[in-house]
Amino acid sequence: MNRLRSLTLLAGLAGCLLLATSAPAQNFEYFPGAKYDPSIPTLKQVVGHGWGEKITMHHEAAAYIQALQQAASSRLKALKYAETWEGRSLYVLAIGSPANIARVEEVKAGMRKLADPRAVSQTEANTLIGSLPSIVWLICGVHGNEISSVDAGLLTAYHLLAAQNDELVETAMKNTVVLIDPMQNPDGRDRFINYFRQNVGRFPDADLQSAEHNEVWPSGRVNHYLFDMNRDWFAQTQPETRGRTKFYLEWFPQVVADLHEMGTNSAYYFAPPALPWNPNLTKSQLDWLTRFGRNNAAWFDRFRFDYFTREAFDSFYPGYGEGWPLFHGSIGMTYEQASARGLVARRDDETTMHYRDSVHHHFIASLSTVEHTAKNRESLLRYFYDYRRTAIEEGKNEATKEYIIMPGNDPNRAARLAATLMMSGIEVKRADAAFNNPKTRDYDGGNPQARDFPAGSYIVSLAQPAKRLAKTLMDRHTEQDKEFLDEQRIRNRKRQFEEFYDVTGWSLPLLFDVPCYFTEQVSNAPATVLKDLPKPSGQMRGSQAKLAYLIAWGAQSSASALADLFRQDIRVHSSDKPFKLGNTNFPAGSLIVKIKDNPADLHERMAKLVADHGVDVHSTDSAWVDEGPNFGSNHVRYLPRPRVAIAYNTPVSPGSVGWLRYLIEQRYGYPVTTIRTEQLRFFDLSKYNVLILPDGNYTQQLGDGAPIRDWVSKGGVLVGLAGATNWLIDEKVNLLPTKREKREKADAKAEKKEGGDQPKDQPKDQAKDQPKNQPKDQPKDQAPAKDPVEKAIEPAEENPSSTPGALLRVRIDRAHWLGFGYGETTAVMTDSNRIYSLLKLDKGTNVAVYAPEDRMLLSGFMFDDAKRQLPNKAYLMHAPMGRGHVVAFAEDPNYRAFMDGLNVMMLNAVFLGPGH
Ligand SMILES: [Zn+2]
Repeated sequence: MNRLRSLTLLAGLAGCLLLATSAPAQNFEYFPGAKYDPSIPTLKQVVGHGWGEKITMHHEAAAYIQALQQAASSRLKALKYAETWEGRSLYVLAIGSPANIARVEEVKAGMRKLADPRAVSQTEANTLIGSLPSIVWLICGVHGNEISSVDAGLLTAYHLLAAQNDELVETAMKNTVVLIDPMQNPDGRDRFINYFRQNVGRFPDADLQSAEHNEVWPSGRVNHYLFDMNRDWFAQTQPETRGRTKFYLEWFPQVVADLHEMGTNSAYYFAPPALPWNPNLTKSQLDWLTRFGRNNAAWFDRFRFDYFTREAFDSFYPGYGEGWPLFHGSIGMTYEQASARGLVARRDDETTMHYRDSVHHHFIASLSTVEHTAKNRESLLRYFYDYRRTAIEEGKNEATKEYIIMPGNDPNRAARLAATLMMSGIEVKRADAAFNNPKTRDYDGGNPQARDFPAGSYIVSLAQPAKRLAKTLMDRHTEQDKEFLDEQRIRNRKRQFEEFYDVTGWSLPLLFDVPCYFTEQVSNAPATVLKDLPKPSGQMRGSQAKLAYLIAWGAQSSASALADLFRQDIRVHSSDKPFKLGNTNFPAGSLIVKIKDNPADLHERMAKLVADHGVDVHSTDSAWVDEGPNFGSNHVRYLPRPRVAIAYNTPVSPGSVGWLRYLIEQRYGYPVTTIRTEQLRFFDLSKYNVLILPDGNYTQQLGDGAPIRDWVSKGGVLVGLAGATNWLIDEKVNLLPTKREKREKADAKAEKKEGGDQPKDQPKDQAKDQPKNQPKDQPKDQAPAKDPVEKAIEPAEENPSSTPGALLRVRIDRAHWLGFGYGETTAVMTDSNRIYSLLKLDKGTNVAVYAPEDRMLLSGFMFDDAKRQLPNKAYLMHAPMGRGHVVAFAEDPNYRAFMDGLNVMMLNAVFLGPGH
């Protein structure tokens, strides 16, 4: 933006006119007319550069925070809430009057009371609303290359502590505790700044084509494990996110602003948000968002800063930094500033934007937010209390009263789901004994019926203050505004870019693939509200074995136990057929750890495995099984230790490789070797027996893939994820004999259907009642009639419409080792326009196939053409090649590392592959 304009009049504030000036940077006034207390140190005094002169790194910010803490200890508490993977500390600065800072614990306890109206009388609530400060939480820089909010956060802290005779600051200090998290992602930010500082020259370059503006893979956006943490709030896979949600639930701030950056040529975005608006949120929230937006607008108008509202950024997905707090009742807002991606940038409108301009905008938006929170202290607290109170009332009146999660085949996974809900502040009960509920519905719908539930089932009641978050996380589907979807269909018909900002399906029971039911009547179950997170638990069944130890396959703990056994160099076998020993059924894939050839202390090691992983281990003194193959059968395979290589760096999608590496290393505890993709062509691949290509476009880097083909035919297991499959099927590469499909013409398909080409294997129960929370706004089967002009301009060949992150059902070939541990079907995340034809019988196996059309879409949105074309197409393919294997997933099974239900499928490829 134009610097001259930003320095002009601040009308109506101090009543004085400041003349436009071309002052040098050090005289740049962020708040014209402000008088600062010299006893509060400036950034320059502590780290050597002034506000907006440099992009402040984590260690500099940490030093400054410490200096502020020393200078203003009665008004500031620096609270460390977590540590990043790379060991950097995360802080929130709590700023307020000495009286409020002295009673921080009392304030937090008061907020927690307001947040649970069941535990507080109306009189007590009124007293709290009369006496507590309102709380605003400014969270900065979750995307590490979105740089200006961090310096703005530090500047806001300085201004609040140092500005004298300032009415806004005085009101804020009296009425509010301001929480500032100046740097949510220091690992990513320092990655960005290191690159920038290494590449900037004597004169910071405004040319956006210069190297300093174009960081290298994987960019500073993501954290150490390459996660976009602005999508992680309900899954909480990352330590940074877990720290933040825990912090939130201690404070319950009424206002949360998450400060970001966007493209250099944009302006500034703040609330109210764009459609779609999550239907679980309330009208009063939207009103508050509008009021906060208007307050920001008034400030931006005074400074003549450009801005926009109601476009691009929505409040639908519950995993955003603004989103998750919204469902708890906060006024959650995203702020987006055009990025200088460096110290200075020349924009398309021929203006020059300096880093300090972008800092300035975030600073003013922050002050405006603090001001509005402070001026509306009482009404915000009352709104918040009412939000939580009405949530309980709403929950009582919903058709669905509760969700019941059954322990199912993998009780530890059900426990993990319960723990995930609890970490999101959702109350979960566990049944102490078996019970019956007379009115339950399947997760798929159907009529209400009586059902028995075992002890240990988890009950999530909607009559709770966190009802709105619980509902959007547990419902099978959350509907988007019709107006928004209609608009997207029009854009799709015109082949314009669609405006889905994120995935459209995230239902946790589907992500975890655990059995879940709705009740329409409150369960009369003896149950306990859980206080501590449920932990995995397992047992040693039987005494010290004389022959072998057995672990049933399919549970997540079995997979992490297997990783542990591999790490210990224990010899493990796996049965390709189910077997039965006494009364215990062992599904295909189950592990056999024989006493012979293993260390003498095997029993102690197996006992430790039970304790460490919560896995059930069975001992046996004989290989005589009651059904299925004995342990000496050819169906029982030795599992060589996997030596796993992963393609890393360009052109791999950072998210895809990050999720994969995090899951294998951190969740399942197994080491991997990352190799730069371009070096895969000439490095010695014989050191590995598994090579994984995460999502990415490999054509340039891997060429025709001759060395990889050679490696596979000698016994390697090659696994392609999502876009990597495009390279595998390339005719020149010839690793997987199938095709990627172009969009089928709607009328061609309709004609085919008239000719009787219906899928043969329609399930019998397809005429079920449509359940309440199932994708509703879905098209009918027949293609729409086309306008002759529209038909004439239709491209001859084009890709199918892209599916915006919907959860789809696939059918699984359970007799194939890649399908071991699964039931008939499971849910997958589909987030692309890739459709692959099925492999022919002589070429390989389609281990997972999209379900027929009427059973496929579980949650989220799909366009008509994809909805017609994707059913009965390949999701997981396996083709043998020489002594090796090619395995291809059409989509990323590790999506955001929150697809718990697909972990075992991925690990089948990695852990079982080399043994086949
Ligand atoms: Zn961002």
